[in-house]
Amino acid sequence: MERIVSKFGGSSVADANQFRKVRDIVLADQRRQVVVVSAPGKRRADEAKLTDLLYLCADMAATGTCFAEPFALIRDRFVGIATDLGLSSAIAEEVAAFGDALKKGCSRDFAASRGEFFSAKLMAQYLEADFVDPADYITILPNGNVDSRSYAVLGDRLAATDRRYVIAGFYGQDIHGEVKTFSRGGSDISGAIAARAAKAALYENWTDTSGMLMADPRIVSNPKPIEEISFREVREMSYMGASVFHDEAILPVREAGIPICIKNTNRPQDAGTRIVPSLSAETIANTEIAGVSGKKAFTMICLEKTLMNKVVGFTHQLLGIFAHYGVSVEHFPSSIDSINVIVENAQLQDRDEEILAEIRKQLEPDSLTIEKDLALVAVVGEGMSHAIGVAAKVFAALRDAGVNVRVINQGASEINLIIGVASKDYEKALQAIYNAFVR
Ligand code: ASP
Repeated sequence: MERIVSKFGGSSVADANQFRKVRDIVLADQRRQVVVVSAPGKRRADEAKLTDLLYLCADMAATGTCFAEPFALIRDRFVGIATDLGLSSAIAEEVAAFGDALKKGCSRDFAASRGEFFSAKLMAQYLEADFVDPADYITILPNGNVDSRSYAVLGDRLAATDRRYVIAGFYGQDIHGEVKTFSRGGSDISGAIAARAAKAALYENWTDTSGMLMADPRIVSNPKPIEEISFREVREMSYMGASVFHDEAILPVREAGIPICIKNTNRPQDAGTRIVPSLSAETIANTEIAGVSGKKAFTMICLEKTLMNKVVGFTHQLLGIFAHYGVSVEHFPSSIDSINVIVENAQLQDRDEEILAEIRKQLEPDSLTIEKDLALVAVVGEGMSHAIGVAAKVFAALRDAGVNVRVINQGASEINLIIGVASKDYEKALQAIYNAFVR
């Protein structure tokens, strides 16, 4: 039988009622045999995330400060869920033992991982499933990557297809066998690893929205949901800031060709978004663009030098200067005698004057200017490469909205069109492009 790995995020396990929803979802399809859970998220906007409380306790313990107050919130949360679900669990004692570990100076990663650990323990008991501690099966290398041997090791643990498993998200072990967490939001990565290890037919990512939207809902009101999007498109969308789930979670499943489905725990009847290795013929026929996303806070360095195109290694030398300063370059559109280098402001860290001086010294440009406050808008869609007129529609929309286009970049893959506009025009540009394709 094909198996599905279902990962439930923090909001999906925030309280006993959410646990009940998870159980209904899992029991509704017997292929849902492997479940991965986050730590309980916020129940209300003003409540702290459990993982944040754990970090707080670890930091307070490290400085010898009494952490009884945040610790009580953690304990009450887990005990409350267990009591509400009628689970005869030893959770209160286990949480108390963790309190002792904190006093004895357990690592920050260990403390943070307990949110997922206790969440998975309770869920396993509730679903009458096997609890799987990822610290025994997933190894995270010093560079942050997952040791590829983990897939086989975890795969063996999940081998019996007549059982159900609950795996704690967010952590594994380091090469010394100590608990190590992924970066924040990392349970998505755990789910992707489990999907690959279990050779799943589908990786479901259950959250509190009904999938990805075609644009940022804080800017475009009521954007349309995306039904199907390719791995390549999703990378372009998340890269520009429209992140649905953890960037690094794509890799394990993409390499194994396992599709992802983003679903809403509170509205399981909604279709959600399918992220697939290649788009269906229907999607290709019916969509011009997958979506539009973007980000502010870029800087563009514009260099002009006559006959630059004849100098062998000119671009190499220019980019070498950025590499020397450890600044990663986002784009570098060029013309015959000019080249623009676009970088994130955060990368520059106010070293622009230093970098400009170095460029002047090494490359002796005819002119060198810097433009701050640039926003980049990305129009994303695999369909663009064969649809005629997508660019025309984009630029007509920007013209009609009175937005001045500063720079354009389209990669040869033709999966995205990047447009640089002044930061003040960012929201207007996004809305105008969205309206041109959707309304
Ligand atoms: N609980 C962790 C966090 O808050 C990981 C996750 O939820 O994915 O970052």
